[in-house]
Amino acid sequence: MTYFDKISFNDVKLSRPQPGEWRYNRDEKFQTFADFQKTRKIIPVQEKNTIYLQPIGEFNDLQKKEIILTKEYLKTYFQLETKVLPILSSNIFPKSVKRIFKDGQEQILAGYVLDSVLMNRKPKDALVLMGITERDLFPKPEWNYVFGLASYEKGVGVTSMYRFADGNLTEANFTQSLGRLIKISSHEIGHMFGISHCLNANCVMNGTNSLTETDSHFARACSLCQQKLNSSTCYNNNKRLLDLKSFFENQHLNSELSKVQKDLNTLN
Ligand SMILES: [Zn+2]
Ligand SMILES: [Zn+2]
Repeated sequence: MTYFDKISFNDVKLSRPQPGEWRYNRDEKFQTFADFQKTRKIIPVQEKNTIYLQPIGEFNDLQKKEIILTKEYLKTYFQLETKVLPILSSNIFPKSVKRIFKDGQEQILAGYVLDSVLMNRKPKDALVLMGITERDLFPKPEWNYVFGLASYEKGVGVTSMYRFADGNLTEANFTQSLGRLIKISSHEIGHMFGISHCLNANCVMNGTNSLTETDSHFARACSLCQQKLNSSTCYNNNKRLLDLKSFFENQHLNSELSKVQKDLNTLN
């Protein structure tokens, strides 16, 4: 039995979608492993094997800590070198891509961040460049806000941490906000690596319509999504689990910790 067969016993079946949830009125196709293999995707090669994070905005110490921990998590989750680039100030945004939302907060046009900020800053060895901003983002004038935006083939994306902490990151909501940021960023990079929305089990690759829905998804990739990930990156599955275990332990992400522990127990 393979590693993936063994841990598949710990996959948790998806429940029937409720109104408002991602799967409720969408008819997405189940991506099998064979489908995945035929998909166009980003694959790490020796000269291009690093995930870069580009912080954009004015960050306080707690927000900086959240970014460093997200870097550590992505390095662990993908088992790839992950680096944080020097912070870019939000004064790189021209007036024309900013607006004031009804809550009084300044918002940035997400597409501008992708096309005009990130695309031409991708380091030579970058497999993926993921912008992280503390500003709220909007995708187009008629939309209220968006958590992030990505161009999957180009390996470029941006995520806003603003709403993960309801606009105010504190010691009290830090763990919850970090849990959301690591899920959303590993999900988006997962898409870049060719993994479609997961219909196999409760999984970080499940589609989501809201933070409540994101909170109900595991950070754990299900056995099928792990198989897809591993076929591109060829890491040691056991080492990855042990690395994840120590990350979740250190960050008191206890429900994720218990899932990793369950997988480790199943393997032994
Ligand atoms: Zn998605
Ligand atoms: Zn999955």
